[in-house]
Amino acid sequence: MNEQDLSSFLDIAKDLFEEEKNQPVLSPIGLDQLHSKLDLKLSHEGLEHERFKDVLKSLILNTPRTSTNRFFNQLFGGRNSKATLGELLSVLLNSSMYTYKIGGPMIAIEREIIQNICRMAGYDESSYGTIASGGSMTNYMALIMARDHFDPNITTQGIKKNLVMYSSVESHYSIKKNAAFSGIGASNVRYIETNDKGEMLCEELEAQIKKDIEDDLHPFFINATIGTTVLGAVDPLAEISEIAKRYNLWLHADAAFYGSFLFSKKYRGVLKDLEKTDSFSMNAHKMLSTPITCSFIFTRHKECLYHSFDSSADYLYQGDEDDWNPGKISFQCGRRNDALKLWTLWKAIGTEGIERMVNNECELARIARNYIRNNENYTLYSGDKSLTICFNYRNIPADQLCQGLHKTGELMVGYGHFRDQQFVRMVAVNSGLQKNDMLEFFRRLESFADNNYF
Ligand SMILES: *Cc1c(COP(=O)(O)O)cnc(C)c1O
Repeated sequence: MNEQDLSSFLDIAKDLFEEEKNQPVLSPIGLDQLHSKLDLKLSHEGLEHERFKDVLKSLILNTPRTSTNRFFNQLFGGRNSKATLGELLSVLLNSSMYTYKIGGPMIAIEREIIQNICRMAGYDESSYGTIASGGSMTNYMALIMARDHFDPNITTQGIKKNLVMYSSVESHYSIKKNAAFSGIGASNVRYIETNDKGEMLCEELEAQIKKDIEDDLHPFFINATIGTTVLGAVDPLAEISEIAKRYNLWLHADAAFYGSFLFSKKYRGVLKDLEKTDSFSMNAHKMLSTPITCSFIFTRHKECLYHSFDSSADYLYQGDEDDWNPGKISFQCGRRNDALKLWTLWKAIGTEGIERMVNNECELARIARNYIRNNENYTLYSGDKSLTICFNYRNIPADQLCQGLHKTGELMVGYGHFRDQQFVRMVAVNSGLQKNDMLEFFRRLESFADNNYF
């Protein structure tokens, strides 16, 4: 990277930070205006540097802002400075995380993170993990391991039996996609009903398993969600793990959202019985505010990672031991270094610093819930432990309210559904926020709503 571009980077970054303060939410650019507003077309001729820099700056400054104090729209948000530093450096190094020869000490920091989290999860020495390109993909890896564990010949001969799998109606849509990708088939996912908090009903789960066995089908996999996407609900792992044991099924916990509760002594209870699972997913880019993506899969059965993902390419794996060549247990071949951003964060502030981040998010969620509870114009739908705060204000349709708030540049917040109820879903995962940011959210929402929906 030459000096000119490095200095352009710093200029644009400073402008972005400034603009994020001045205007935390951009009104969306209509698709009909996109090309007149921005110079996006590629052409035969290049641009001289100053013109190029202007075009680039304009593009950057017109992209939706996900790191500001008025972004509550996704299960990610904020920009952790130490993690961003790590991410920028990993781009400069451009490592690929398949071999020790290419990754060097970056392989060691990935191992350090994986071993620490396995220990925090209560997994023993035979556990291990890896990083993939998102929670959907780590859930996919879990499903593949479970499938191949059910019948080790599947990796060579394909699926010969009618496999069926279980997940709650509130679980993430990647479960269904992954069932299709893996050859299980989307219609072989049994969606188990939940109670009115969004938690999987264990009696329904067991009844369905029994029925499938009677029908000569082959149950092999249960996905329990620890932090559902909408309500932030937690499936009862203790009971589900008993059922998994009884029928000899692989139990995966999709903790993409809530996995980072491992870092908090105060809230570790959310992940109670995690050690009884066969695998779990965790996205550090959600609660820990690292740049996207930072997605882990952990399993108690290291050998299953090797069985499903090692098709050794000898030209790559020359020298060093298996554990130092994580390409052997990866989904992909070339793999970007997603470990460094979590390592820089963890190294800089320590486990106790990450614990404070997590606890602060819980505190922010509590502040929002209290505000709602103390104001009779609101109805609350999410539970007391959730990092998503689901509510309606004066019965205004949530979709209209959220769209209006976005269009007018007030707030970015989304809406969700539970059963036939639609509501605003505010997410508290930006640990850089403070109490005032939460109160400001409600102030803006009310002022917008009161002016537009008398
Ligand atoms: C976010 C999330 C996913 C998907 O993760 P991506 O990184 O967006 O692919 C899966 N499951 C749950 C419970 C999630 O919250």
